[in-house]
Amino acid sequence: MDLRYSEAELAFAAEVRAFFANDYPQDILAKRRRGQSLAKSDLQRSERALSDRGWLAANWPPEHGGTGWSVTEKYLFDEELERAGAAPIVPMGVIYVAPVLYTFGSEEQKRRFLPEILKANTFWAQGYSEPGAGSDLAGLECRADADGDDYIVNGSKTWTSQAHFADWIFCLVRTSREERKQQGITFLMIDMNTPGVEVHPIITIDGGHHLNTVSFENVRVPQSNRVGEEGKGWSYAKYLLTHERTSYAHIAGKKEQMRKLESCARETRDGRDTLWADPEFRRRYEAVAVELTTLEYTTLRTLAAVATGGAPGNESSILKVRSTEVAQAITELWLEAAGYLGVRAVPDRSDADWNGGRGGPFAPAWPVTSVADYFFTRAQSIYGGTNEIQKNVIAKQVLGLE
Ligand SMILES: Cc1cc2nc3c(=O)[nH]c(=O)nc-3n(C[C@H](O)[C@H](O)[C@H](O)COP(=O)(O)OP(=O)(O)OC[C@H]3O[C@@H](n4cnc5c(N)ncnc54)[C@H](O)[C@@H]3O)c2cc1C
Repeated sequence: MDLRYSEAELAFAAEVRAFFANDYPQDILAKRRRGQSLAKSDLQRSERALSDRGWLAANWPPEHGGTGWSVTEKYLFDEELERAGAAPIVPMGVIYVAPVLYTFGSEEQKRRFLPEILKANTFWAQGYSEPGAGSDLAGLECRADADGDDYIVNGSKTWTSQAHFADWIFCLVRTSREERKQQGITFLMIDMNTPGVEVHPIITIDGGHHLNTVSFENVRVPQSNRVGEEGKGWSYAKYLLTHERTSYAHIAGKKEQMRKLESCARETRDGRDTLWADPEFRRRYEAVAVELTTLEYTTLRTLAAVATGGAPGNESSILKVRSTEVAQAITELWLEAAGYLGVRAVPDRSDADWNGGRGGPFAPAWPVTSVADYFFTRAQSIYGGTNEIQKNVIAKQVLGLE
């Protein structure tokens, strides 16, 4: 196996790198370096910059506006995006619902929704989980009752990421009660501006507002917003989840975190030994680096399988478990580094504009944000289906153990 990049691939990577250095909104990169959260308008500008270049929808088929990139090009693009520190693509529209639409949606739905996602005009939320239905998602109770050409939706969704930004939400709703709970579930797209839809914020342990509860009270939704057949939503939802779980790896971002961690751990403070000189820290750093390399090759294998025609299968559960474990291990090392170096004055770092340039003592952004990152990364082994549930999937569907 030849693992070297070709000349053309290296030229492509250089083109992407130049784009992020010159044509991408630089103020967004600066905000990200400072660990500031991004507003919806920032995310929209970020996605429009990619869209203008034709680079927003790497995972879509070219006939719908996808890039037509090879697996390697997609990988190189992600690597450059994460190396530059650009905003991640908000996945709910581009990565989650779009594949369902171009695979199962009607021609009218494809014409209506895909271009709007591609131009970053509409942001989406994912309405799967409910207060009483998370791991046991098929137990969901949010109801859609047919009424003429419409459905009337009643119930609530919870842990809904970015619902406060979203223009649309795709929901799993119950349209009938069958013996098997998975039957009678329908995939419905709901305009967030419809009367009766309300968004209630949930503030997480990192202090951020990422999550919400969304309630629906007698919300009238045209039946033409249903994707595919009534009662078949479970199979579309499962298809979506394999795309979702494959998207968690973020290898390049993890590599970048490890590079930065090494450089921060090499800093001296008040004449003390560096953290890098501590053999126990180095041992754990190298152990995580090895895990990351194995994750990288597992990811490449999965992407290569997708490139040769397969949708990502249940193997995506393996990626989900490993990616989240490695992500959490990295933030644990970061937290330790932050504790070692402290967050007080560090006078000569280039990212020292954390205090907004007001002068006086300052701290670099990373020790402060590493605490929030540590807390929020705990959630990775919960969302998209918990790691325990992924292990059940691996046991039953991949290893055939019943
Ligand atoms: C940050 C974040 C973002 C999220 N974003 C979204 C979103 O945008 N849209 C959305 O629909 N949902 C979202 N979720 C919800 C997420 O999908 C659920 O939290 C998840 O599926 C778990 O469901 P639950 O919270 O109800 O936990 P529960 O299902 O109640 O599970 C509780 C615990 O029991 C374990 N458990 C449950 N059943 C089993 C079993 N059969 N075998 C072994 N262990 C089991 C679980 O692993 C877990 O540890 C998000 C969650 C988080 C934390």
